[in-house]
Amino acid sequence: MTQATAAEAADVVKAARSTFVTGRTTDRQWRETQLRRLISFLDSCEPEIAAALASDLGRDRTETFLLDLAPARADARYALKHLSRWMRSRRRPAPWRHLPGWTQVRYEPLGVVLIIGPWNVPVTLVLAPLVAALAAGNCVVLKPSELAPATASLLSRRLPEYLDPEAVFVVEGDHRVTEGLLSEDIDHVFFTGGTETGRKVMARAAEHLTPVTLELGGKSPVIVAADADLDVTARRIAWIKLMNAGQLCIAPDYVLAEETIRDALVDRIAMTFAQFISAAEGLRIVNEHHFERITGLLDLTDGRLACGGGRRPRQLAIEPTIVVDPDPYEPLMREEIFGPVLPILAYRRLDEAIAFINARPKPLAAYVFTRSAVVRQQAISAISAGAVVVNHVGTHVLVHALPFGGVGASGTGAYHGRWGFETMSHRKAVLERPFHPDPRVVYPRYRAWKRRSLRWLF
Ligand code: NDP
Repeated sequence: MTQATAAEAADVVKAARSTFVTGRTTDRQWRETQLRRLISFLDSCEPEIAAALASDLGRDRTETFLLDLAPARADARYALKHLSRWMRSRRRPAPWRHLPGWTQVRYEPLGVVLIIGPWNVPVTLVLAPLVAALAAGNCVVLKPSELAPATASLLSRRLPEYLDPEAVFVVEGDHRVTEGLLSEDIDHVFFTGGTETGRKVMARAAEHLTPVTLELGGKSPVIVAADADLDVTARRIAWIKLMNAGQLCIAPDYVLAEETIRDALVDRIAMTFAQFISAAEGLRIVNEHHFERITGLLDLTDGRLACGGGRRPRQLAIEPTIVVDPDPYEPLMREEIFGPVLPILAYRRLDEAIAFINARPKPLAAYVFTRSAVVRQQAISAISAGAVVVNHVGTHVLVHALPFGGVGASGTGAYHGRWGFETMSHRKAVLERPFHPDPRVVYPRYRAWKRRSLRWLF
């Protein structure tokens, strides 16, 4: 569908609902067929997807493969492999007080799910939630970001050729269309985007008591201890920091390096930046608003530039930049950077670094580089974040066995693998009892002997 009006958006939700009530999406075969077709879409449309991402974000083909093709395809394959096990009802023993009795937990689809995606990884971040929604047997309305228009248009034109067009709908439009969709009869909203927008989405959904999953952003910190392998650490930080021009929710936002190795780490990351990206080209930012936001953070910094700082407004390009020792309370250290700028600060003791992180909103991920089991354990147990990754950055997103999601300001709820299936399903509790025996002790009137028995029973 091209740019929708609010009335068209409402019709789409009604159409999705009328398909859902037929019950055909609950069938395992239907779910598996949709997942297979989703994989075919990704395989056959790879060149078109790469072209759309090049147009929207100036994205390189290989990065598109790494960010927008491989993860969504791997998600769909994993769901296909495990679906029949996930769908199975779980029988649980009834406690003796409820005997004879039989219990089970049944997974049933929620109904119509609205998936709202961001512009930065605009294919995976709608298709991975779609995998979870389809695996769970839901009908889906997708609302991709209008800030990645070529991708949104591609999804809206091509997805219906592969997926059940009466069960999966793509709606294009701006935030007014999304607001319109949110006021419809939706069973679950799965939102990926910024924390502020997430707040608005949650408030809107609350009017209808629609449950939400919020996959939000934040400032994901990296701790680098003095015993870390600095070459590997620098490569891993630089790789993910520069990917998609730093516009990734799991990108390292800032680094806290142990004082004794801080300067050595700065030099190594600066060298690695230069190896990975030509400073002359810089990295293209999605639009003028975000370009000015990031360069504004640089203009206001009290820190020292160890490399980069250059910008080309016409190309919306910013050089990979390291800022050493910014003021911990300046905008660069308060707002999510979402660009190729890396602040690096020094710490003396690990507990100072952990306290620094814990004094700020809870991040989507925290990274720690160390050879020490003690440092590792302390960071894992003391930092509250969506995920903690040791000696790497961002790669937890590819591990299907792990739930992916934030905590506090970085999000609520999780998905990927079985976790996504659970998020998009209702866990229905079922208890079956026979008519007899039917002990009278539980029924009024409550005399002394009944009261004694009930205390013993319950
Ligand atoms: P936004 O919050 O600006 O937008 C996200 C989605 O919400 C878009 O589809 C947008 O539509 C829509 N939207 C905007 N305003 C409203 C509104 N008032 N009501 C309803 N929907 C609205 O995020 P960005 O697209 O800029 O993405 C960047 C942010 O997303 C970063 O903070 C990043 O950390 C986070 N993010 C989180 C991820 C995670 O998995 N946790 C992954 C990737 C990004 P439109 O664009 O069409 O206006």
